[in-house]
Amino acid sequence: MIVPAGMASPSLVFDYSTLPREFKRQYLPKDLKFEWDELARVYDELGKRHLGSEAELERWLLDEAEFDAYLYEQRAVRYFNSTRQTDNPEYAKAYEEYTELLEPKIKVAGFKLLQMYVASRFRDQLPEQIFGLQDRRRQNAVSIFRVENVELEKDDSALSQKYFETTGAMTVNFRGQERTLQQMSKFLEEPDRALREEAWRLSSQRALTDSETLDSVYSEMVALRDKLARNAGFDNYRDYIFVKKNRFDYTPGDCEEFHRGVEEAIVPLSREIDRARAERMGVDVLRPWDLQVDPAGRQALRPFDQVPALVSGAERVLTKVDKELSSYFERMVELQLLDLDSRKGKAPGGYQEELTEVRLPFIFMNAVGKDDDVRTLLHECGHSFHTFLMRKAMLPFFNGGANMPNEFSEVASMSMEIITGEHYEGVFYDREGAKRSNWKEAVDNIKLFTWVATIDAFQHWVYTHPVHTKDERAKAWVTTFNRFCGLEAYEGLESSRAYRWQRQLHLFEVPFYYIEYAIALTGALGVWSGYRSDPKDAIETYKSALSLGCASTLPELFGAAGVEWGFGPGTLRRIAGELRSAVNEYGE
Ligand SMILES: [Zn+2]
Repeated sequence: MIVPAGMASPSLVFDYSTLPREFKRQYLPKDLKFEWDELARVYDELGKRHLGSEAELERWLLDEAEFDAYLYEQRAVRYFNSTRQTDNPEYAKAYEEYTELLEPKIKVAGFKLLQMYVASRFRDQLPEQIFGLQDRRRQNAVSIFRVENVELEKDDSALSQKYFETTGAMTVNFRGQERTLQQMSKFLEEPDRALREEAWRLSSQRALTDSETLDSVYSEMVALRDKLARNAGFDNYRDYIFVKKNRFDYTPGDCEEFHRGVEEAIVPLSREIDRARAERMGVDVLRPWDLQVDPAGRQALRPFDQVPALVSGAERVLTKVDKELSSYFERMVELQLLDLDSRKGKAPGGYQEELTEVRLPFIFMNAVGKDDDVRTLLHECGHSFHTFLMRKAMLPFFNGGANMPNEFSEVASMSMEIITGEHYEGVFYDREGAKRSNWKEAVDNIKLFTWVATIDAFQHWVYTHPVHTKDERAKAWVTTFNRFCGLEAYEGLESSRAYRWQRQLHLFEVPFYYIEYAIALTGALGVWSGYRSDPKDAIETYKSALSLGCASTLPELFGAAGVEWGFGPGTLRRIAGELRSAVNEYGE
């Protein structure tokens, strides 16, 4: 039977003690409590252990991995509860206690173990296949660590907090109601052009009133990050972050090639689509508020009205893709690992998290009946299937789940998001609706490439020119923006364009985390392309790649998924061709 979690349990308490514990603890005490005294005892034991042979080091690593899985799961449970009920002070307090009291201690104690590992002379004797990449990651972490940077990182987080406070307080009064800028975005899908313009201008003006504050916050962040990199012996923060993010398989030069490839192959396609859009809408010039609406003026798609219909629809679609994958989804339904409906007191957004000790996934989202909701659920399902397939492969914690590089974990999710669209007809939509949804997905993916290139290229400029004025930065942004943008005109809206980057939280919050989406998208589109020619084979290949965990390099993982590794001009030209025919096919 299908009952979404949020509806089945009136108290909404996530009772995870009832989940099956199929992976028995080998090392940790059964009744371990999540309190510092008890955790310190475990750290103490691991820290004092004599590592006198390769076998002892291996045992120690596996025990540490079991402990990490426990810690990660405890954090995740507190996080779920706090996002599922933001209005429950008990949950907020439990999560805050974790981040403020426990997490700093865990970081320090964890780093000591890291140093102990790196100092071990038996490292070289560990089996390369299981431990090789993990060894490189640990070596990296130790090599860039500087005591004097701990304080700088704390200051960086404080500045992030200021960014959130400033943007979180941005609301406007629209049609008699106070709304956040996030809530305002839905008006950009309205067929009424005047209404869209009013909504867009209002949001944009509101954002501009804080542009100087955010400009200053960013300047401080850039200076601080540059210092952090120099302390660690790097010329600039860009080079530092490539090491910190364990980007073993590509360089800043490869990212620049990606920017070039997008400019040559994707931007012309994006502009073709805009030209066709303007024609279909019957407007001479597209404006920024014309980009989200259905170009034929139809009402937004409504694939379902209640969450149970979303769940049963997803189940039917997944059954058409693969029996094993749909059985994983059914398992999640049965174990109440889905919280999908939008309700008061719930945090915005959507995510999939892994409960790392029980090794089960959990999906959180805010479904309200939109086309995007279906895509989001099936995207998060892709992440969940990754968790299930690694579980099946019985990998140690550090080779799965929480340590998976985003460049590949997003291949798992984006592939599902795109592939499942092939089966919407007769489930969520009629033929026309399914085509509209797939057209929108293809267009969104084209625009995603151009936006990722914009954000990434801008960051390359910022951190390789750490000494710059705000005016120089604004100019660099506009140049970058114009290099990759569509055909929408900004006449009279120049300042909105000059500060548009401030709406991208990644620039503030998680610098350089963005290109991963484009890299993964090249992989996901490759999986989709394989699926269109041989669905059975493509799914088997997809599943075997997902079950490898993260002990393999990115080129190995991509290869196992049956797709070419590389995101330069050649790959992008081929992808542009495929996306162009999809847009034509779905758009007729
Ligand atoms: Zn994702």
